[in-house]
Amino acid sequence: MSSNHSPAHGHAHDDGEDHHHGHDHDHSHLSDMDIRVRALQSLLEAKGYIDPNALDELIQLYEHEVGPQNGARVVAKAWTDPAYAERLFADATTAIAELGYTGRQGEHMVALKNTPDTHNMVVCTLCSCYPWPVLGLPPTWYKSAPYRAKAVADPRGVLADFGVSLPDETYIEVYDSTAEVRYLVVPMRPDGTEGWDEAALANLVTRDAMIGTGLPALPTSP
Ligand code: FE
Repeated sequence: MSSNHSPAHGHAHDDGEDHHHGHDHDHSHLSDMDIRVRALQSLLEAKGYIDPNALDELIQLYEHEVGPQNGARVVAKAWTDPAYAERLFADATTAIAELGYTGRQGEHMVALKNTPDTHNMVVCTLCSCYPWPVLGLPPTWYKSAPYRAKAVADPRGVLADFGVSLPDETYIEVYDSTAEVRYLVVPMRPDGTEGWDEAALANLVTRDAMIGTGLPALPTSP
């Protein structure tokens, strides 16, 4: 699938993406990738390798059931349960599995703790490695070349693009998912949420806050 990746990269590109960007699809309303996906699906169904209903269920799963709400629950638990937070930062894969979130692209998770001194941001500079079990499928911008380049060169500029401004003294650390590692940013718990329960806190944890391109939502009354 990843025809233009250097094998030396050691990157387990099991993300089902075709990283080739062709310029030869101008005469169709379908993208090159759409056409390839449809052709593959038809072929696999015709050969009896996949059941179309099973495929629909898988898509349904990632569109509706597996998404940032999972990661938000992990973050909210870390905010309220110090013992859980300790386990999460020691071994994120196992701590996340405690909440039932496991599966592809989540085999080697690392949780990154934001502090007043350090803000973490995640990118995959080569493609789109992303922690599916906790965040679902990546947003389009995450896979875009401009984000992948700018996150490394100018992370503060990326934050500005997302409307986020951090103090000058906060160091922005960029993690490149180029390994079999998937990162989850654990943002700082917002002030004004003392006594909130996990469910209320989880509602503040946005997808972008867990990628590091955003911050949690500001608390209103719980
Ligand atoms: Fe990648």
